[in-house]
Amino acid sequence: MRMFERGWLSSNNVLFTGESPALVDSGYVTHAPQTLALVHHALDGRPLARLLNTHLHSDHCGGNAALQAAYGCHTAIPAAEAGKVAAWDEDALSYRATGQQCARFTFDALLRPGQALELGDLSWQVLAAPGHDPHALLLFCPGEGILIAGDALWENGFGVIFPELDGESGFEEARATLDLIATLDARLVIPGHGRMFTDVAGALERAYSRLDYLSAAPSRNAENAVKVLVKFLLLERQRVALADVPGLLASIPVVNSALRQIDIAALAGEGARVERVDGEPVHPTAGASTRRVGGPPAHASNAGTHTTPHDALYTKLATWAIASLIRARAARIDGAFLVDA
Ligand SMILES: [Zn+2]
Repeated sequence: MRMFERGWLSSNNVLFTGESPALVDSGYVTHAPQTLALVHHALDGRPLARLLNTHLHSDHCGGNAALQAAYGCHTAIPAAEAGKVAAWDEDALSYRATGQQCARFTFDALLRPGQALELGDLSWQVLAAPGHDPHALLLFCPGEGILIAGDALWENGFGVIFPELDGESGFEEARATLDLIATLDARLVIPGHGRMFTDVAGALERAYSRLDYLSAAPSRNAENAVKVLVKFLLLERQRVALADVPGLLASIPVVNSALRQIDIAALAGEGARVERVDGEPVHPTAGASTRRVGGPPAHASNAGTHTTPHDALYTKLATWAIASLIRARAARIDGAFLVDA
């Protein structure tokens, strides 16, 4: 068994070599060639027999299509997503909502909580892990105490609690998932992102504490979601014109949902305090661009002429998000561009 630790744009991948080689999660679509190369090299040219996904976020299944094209591998996905994948419903599958991309793939089998699996000559249990994603799954090997956790538990935290952004319950489910993990005798966790770790108790303690912090004020989860989505855009594109950020944010439906939980006036105050970071202005220009994620210019005739309250709202949000990422050293400004850091 090998873990390929990837950058944050792509999830980690777990490769089981042996009789029937299997891969858990396949990264983001723009990294698919790299995923194929990693698998090809590790298997020494032998075919990949099976592909499984912990959940169907774009950074976990973006390489599915390429792997299927290369190997015709048997693919198993969470059962609750079957209808959406069969119909390739990009709205229901979160790709349109997040402004992210995923190449269309198919499936051969479904994973359900309670199922048993053989992977790499080891027996694994499929467990439900709602919270970050309502249909996410864990894979646990009781014999070896290994947990493949997806985005339910990282060494420091877990993925954005997406259901809460739409006013649905997610914090409670995330807590129940952590409670479940605490009952497993996991000695090694392979997370969806970041390095694998053995201090499971420490990671759980940090995750509970983060969950307490987020659930005490849902705006915190919403603000975190906006930052994560902008960082994801930067990881995908490496650089984005500052003037494009408000328009990009406005075109992402999840950001629209998150905005309902964000006190923009309070954030705008925060943005004003960090008006200049590292000597660089962080204010994108309202209405200067209305380019949509993954689409052509929406209403370019607006450019720079007049701003609507809608534009002003997204300019404030963009100003705050840019300043936050710069402070966290997750981005920097290069001339008129926001650049991944
Ligand atoms: Zn995820």
